[in-house]
Amino acid sequence: MSRDDDLLDGFRAQFALPRNAAGEPLVYLCGHSLGLMPLAARTILNEELDSWATLGIDGQFTGRRPWVGYAERMTAGLAALAGAQPGEVVAMNALTVNLHLLLASFYRPQGARRRVLIEAGAFPSDRHVVTGQIAWHGLDPESCLIELEPRDGEALLRADDIEAAIERAGDELALVLWPGVQYLTGQAFDPARIARAAHRVGAVAGFDLAHAIGNLPLALHDSDADFAAWCSYKYLNAGPGAIGGAFVHERHARRAGLPRLGGWWGHDAATRFLMAPHLDIAAGAAGWQVSNPPIFSAAPLLASLELFAGAGIDRLRAKSIALTQALEREIDALPRGEVRIVSPRDPDARGAQLSLRLRGGAERGRQVFDALTARGIIGDWREPDVLRLAPAPLYNSFADVHAAGAALHAALGAH
Ligand SMILES: *Cc1c(COP(=O)(O)O)cnc(C)c1O
Repeated sequence: MSRDDDLLDGFRAQFALPRNAAGEPLVYLCGHSLGLMPLAARTILNEELDSWATLGIDGQFTGRRPWVGYAERMTAGLAALAGAQPGEVVAMNALTVNLHLLLASFYRPQGARRRVLIEAGAFPSDRHVVTGQIAWHGLDPESCLIELEPRDGEALLRADDIEAAIERAGDELALVLWPGVQYLTGQAFDPARIARAAHRVGAVAGFDLAHAIGNLPLALHDSDADFAAWCSYKYLNAGPGAIGGAFVHERHARRAGLPRLGGWWGHDAATRFLMAPHLDIAAGAAGWQVSNPPIFSAAPLLASLELFAGAGIDRLRAKSIALTQALEREIDALPRGEVRIVSPRDPDARGAQLSLRLRGGAERGRQVFDALTARGIIGDWREPDVLRLAPAPLYNSFADVHAAGAALHAALGAH
């Protein structure tokens, strides 16, 4: 992609860009942590406040966007990003809550089949979900949890090793919970391959797409994954604490007998307000809802999904690959041995993010990170020793990436 005819340039103007004390825009490479605010988020949020102010409870069923059908407004946009059928996705709750709700249904230990495979170094919340669920069943997390580590001296996991670990666990394996993109290293995994391996031994395959959705195209339906969950405040730009999302494969859509932690919003929408005591579960992912949706943390997602629909995830991915490769070139041009890229070198094996380790380890890494921040480059520092930078194709430019390279060069020279 050439810099001049980048068709996505116009989207940058649709976002609020954070500024320094002097009012100059910062170079924001932190969309993997909190995506920037679409300007339209404020408009939609204000419209919902107006509905509340002027309609009160009537806003539930009248007004511009009746709140009762709010989750459904996000279905098409989320399905496009997840590579799912509309009935397979739902916007609800927050990520960790959704993982718990889904594991309540899909982690059903029986006899010797009670173990769960995750990656060593998983995001702590995911590990807490799994160990918590194991203990909830009265089982021992120590013996039921399998944590796969990279090979000695390696930072990334090999697909073959994941498959081998699944094979090894065999008929003791109840469930695999795996990231779409690893939060610390930026490594992307192929859900289809992992789901196939899990299903081969009779286990369930679930995915945490916190760093994957809105970052790279997904094909969840075809991947045959059983379930997935994500948050919407990273690449989806829906704002701090925004409503999360979930995917449940169509083949589970009508399994009314599947145990679940139910609530009234999972009731078939057509009869929900008849207030009958019986829970008549809605088909599909919608049947995992428990509460009515938080309108003010969902409204910004509507704004963001509209931008994604306009840009198209495939076009965004093409630009993302080019942006990240440009950042990679900047880093490779730094003085030899100063910075090591932990993320995969193969663009297909990573998302937007590059994770860096610096010569001199955590202490110097932290100093360089602080110096970068002082120069207006916003990335983040993840313990123990990783500096993460992610250009987001909706609002970052090649000039941002170049500025980050120059600032990194200067920061390394000064420390
Ligand atoms: C961001 C992130 C979370 C955060 O969980 P919340 O429930 O949204 O607070 C959990 N897991 C992973 C893998 C993440 O990247």
